[in-house]
Amino acid sequence: MAEFTPQPSCADAHEPNSLSVQEARQRIKNLITPITTWEKRSLRDALGYILAESIISPINVPPHNNSAMDGYAIHGSDLSDKPVTVKQVGIAFAGQPYVGSIKSGECIRIMTGAMMPDDCDTVIMQEHVDVNDSSITLHGTHSIGQNVRSAGEDLQQGEEVLTPGHKIMPADLGLIASLGIAELTVKRKLRVAFFSTGDELRSIGETLEEGQIYDSNRYTLYGMLKRIDVDFIDMGVIPDQKAALRQALQLASKQADVVLTSGGVSVGDADYVKEMLTELGHVDFWKIAMKPGRPLAFGKINDALFFGLPGNPVSVMVTFYQFVSAALQQLAGLPEQASQHMQVNCVSTIRKRAGRFEFQRGILFQDERGLTQVKTTGEQGSGILRSMSVANCFILLEEQCDGIKPNTTVTVQPFSGLI
Ligand code: AMP
Ligand code: MG
Repeated sequence: MAEFTPQPSCADAHEPNSLSVQEARQRIKNLITPITTWEKRSLRDALGYILAESIISPINVPPHNNSAMDGYAIHGSDLSDKPVTVKQVGIAFAGQPYVGSIKSGECIRIMTGAMMPDDCDTVIMQEHVDVNDSSITLHGTHSIGQNVRSAGEDLQQGEEVLTPGHKIMPADLGLIASLGIAELTVKRKLRVAFFSTGDELRSIGETLEEGQIYDSNRYTLYGMLKRIDVDFIDMGVIPDQKAALRQALQLASKQADVVLTSGGVSVGDADYVKEMLTELGHVDFWKIAMKPGRPLAFGKINDALFFGLPGNPVSVMVTFYQFVSAALQQLAGLPEQASQHMQVNCVSTIRKRAGRFEFQRGILFQDERGLTQVKTTGEQGSGILRSMSVANCFILLEEQCDGIKPNTTVTVQPFSGLI
């Protein structure tokens, strides 16, 4: 009689070979070496890329003292407690400085951004003067040096403005343009290849036969990858056949820095992903004490990192956000980011068994007093993708937690902070 070997199942509360979420994160970190290849890109084309150099300001920004207001430039020493009348001797526009001297008792009309004449140190807003024929009378109280922006007040010449590892955002494009820099040295983008596995899967546009379902994982993966600025190769659906899987994994690992698959990673009779990873590369781990997302095969094939995500649609998203996204950032050379957690009151009852970390889907809302609270989205099955769609946060429940009673403080991770 054949000997019966118990296999791990998603229903087990605790399985001894599972890693904790923390251990799994650490194992992934240990296996990653950030890419070093860089390229030159013109400023606009560098949006979303990661700087591979320091940006040092070659100039002062602004390059000269200038007026912060439309008004009149005067000698601050002319100010007095009594109303002062000064003669207007000229005018300065932004880009058209006033040439000539301005004596005590004189002023020029000056526009916002116009260069301050050397003789003057103070600008009076036009709303605070009475304009006569060729002179103005100041009213109100003023102080010497007011309404003047100093040279270098935004950026000093020689200052390090951006450091290597910084991701170029819209503000940076403007900042770098203000320095007159047209070209940047950046890290090349990561290439991520992904495919779904499963004989039951059909792509949208195809007709479903009995027992078949539409492939949704490639669409959520597309969406999540698109948001983090990587180049990706969508390899479609691969059937549950060893030869097809072998060929797809080899091809993917030669073309990409990271290979992501979904499905076929559990212990069913047609689950070949882990076996193929063992044959073609190296399995670092494949079980995590978490729900959803217990079977997650992680390792390397050739030089590519490999994540065999579970097949269930919610598990794909949870494992991507909890492991893959940080790994992609580390590989791309971005500094590690602390994930944003909040402590809030949970108004729902949550059922949970101790022994595994759970990422339940929750909805943060404001109660009638304006306080932020959280409730569960309800059914937490890992096939219920709608729970991700209606949720706006994960409720993080530690391994030892064995359920939540209403009005207990819980830790949540808002989706708005997920990349
Ligand atoms: P597996 O891990 O391959 O056993 O898949 C677990 C569950 O997820 C099964 O019900 C699959 O039909 C489902 N599944 C796997 N891949 C996908 C996919 N790409 N889109 C939607 N459901 C999937
Ligand atoms: Mg499958």
